[in-house]
Amino acid sequence: MTASPNLVPITVARGDGIGPEIMQATLDILQAAGARLAIEEIEIGEQLYTKGILSGIEDSSWDSILKTRVFLKAPITTPQGGGVKSLNVTTRKTLGLYANVRPCVSYHPFVRTKHPTMDVVIVRENEEDLYAGIEHRQTDQVYQCLKLISRPGSEKIVRYAFEYAVANDRKKVTCFTKDNIMKFTDGLFHKVFDEVAAEYPDIENEHWIVDIGAAKLADSPEVFDVIVMPNLYGDILSDVAAQIAGSVGLAGSANIGEKAAMFEAIHGSAPRRAGQNMANPSGLLLGAIQMLVHIGQHDVAQNVHNAWLKTLEDGVHTYDIFKEGVSTEKVGTREFAAAVVARVGQQPQKLKPVVYKAAPGKTAEGEAKPIYTPTVPAKKELMGVDIFLHCIDVTPDELGAKIKSLELDNLALQVISNRGVKVYPKGFAETFCTDHWRCRFLNPAGNPVSHADILRLLTNIGDAGLDFIKTEHLCTFDGVQGWTAAQGA
Ligand code: NAD
Repeated sequence: MTASPNLVPITVARGDGIGPEIMQATLDILQAAGARLAIEEIEIGEQLYTKGILSGIEDSSWDSILKTRVFLKAPITTPQGGGVKSLNVTTRKTLGLYANVRPCVSYHPFVRTKHPTMDVVIVRENEEDLYAGIEHRQTDQVYQCLKLISRPGSEKIVRYAFEYAVANDRKKVTCFTKDNIMKFTDGLFHKVFDEVAAEYPDIENEHWIVDIGAAKLADSPEVFDVIVMPNLYGDILSDVAAQIAGSVGLAGSANIGEKAAMFEAIHGSAPRRAGQNMANPSGLLLGAIQMLVHIGQHDVAQNVHNAWLKTLEDGVHTYDIFKEGVSTEKVGTREFAAAVVARVGQQPQKLKPVVYKAAPGKTAEGEAKPIYTPTVPAKKELMGVDIFLHCIDVTPDELGAKIKSLELDNLALQVISNRGVKVYPKGFAETFCTDHWRCRFLNPAGNPVSHADILRLLTNIGDAGLDFIKTEHLCTFDGVQGWTAAQGA
């Protein structure tokens, strides 16, 4: 395709394994349906890994993605080990692709599923949570991974979920968190959900604790509509949802950022099926349909999606979903693409036709809405400190007595905990202790303390031969306590 002012530039990578075949099929369908695209191709994956480029992508390819800001990506084969970085994670983080959107739909009775009316969209936060990758070994026994949840990060994803619901005539947005345990991190996500939900009175909203929510999703997915989640729960449950829809091979996904977006199938490069004209191109095609909506070509997206649904219900199936008695024709990748092309302009008769309007977060004219509220800094006061120690062969009472002798007048020892459980003063002999201790110091007068006070305390502790490994400041924000109590304290 040649560039013209009416064509939208996109970057395309054909990937590895079955990637080139399913990408060709997808592009053939898009072109036949009149997608207005100017395609720039880049190489990613195996060819680069074998050249020693461990990121799987060359700098010049980044230039294309940064220019077009729309990336349609076929799956790649990720070599095991050897310092190779996941290209998906790199792309998401580098481009700030905060929203992972995965529609999980069953196509009963044309594709086998236990949940014939399932139609759930998982909206997963993509950049924060335990995936910040900040991990440390702190003692002989204890390793730590930081779970980071931010207010703008939560607001962006929750607002995206509600905007998605509005743009796609969805009725309800559900939030899954574990805020009964993680009161600050998941608690913030839940709080922001409630605040944003109040701005969308026409959309029903609800919150579930993630464990029982996940069980309900696996058992009765038809009670959910759009579900928004922090990164880890979303990672796990979006695969569960795609699988129970009966069709991991039929799911596409969008990774949306403020400045760029990436679209793909959720499956991998299936190397054993490569080069045999067997693979099902549907997952990548559905990702490409999400891309068309994103770039404002709803008309083409709708045509392609409905032609694809008509192909499915006509029983024209690739090997992975072929079923005697339901399917009418077993076809290869190219023939499947040709069958979809032949149906462009047709509507499905039994499956529900799709209707696309504006892309989520944009008006019908393509204007982007503001996605998060600027932060107003609070009055922050330093009230104390948690000091973490690496100590072996010590009882809580011995450690408590030693630390008490090192405290300051305005930074007195309040409590020692081990793996979050209070062990001093008055701990239980039954509590198992590791070599990782948290000592909490606060000003008994309840007044703020200074950085210099904390440095003096740390000096006392270091001079006494104790190995301090980390500190966490205890602050109030506009007078509200910014730390949680130890269990049992
Ligand atoms: P896979 O998704 O490639 O394959 C799993 C199974 O599903 C296989 O039996 C395969 O034959 C079948 N399958 C997958 N897609 C199909 C399709 N379109 N049509 C028909 N059948 C299909 O998972 P895997 O085998 O675990 O991984 C293979 C490679 O893909 C690995 O190197 C992995 O790292 C990589 N991978 C890449 C991505 C990505 O690029 N986004 C995602 C997942 C896995």
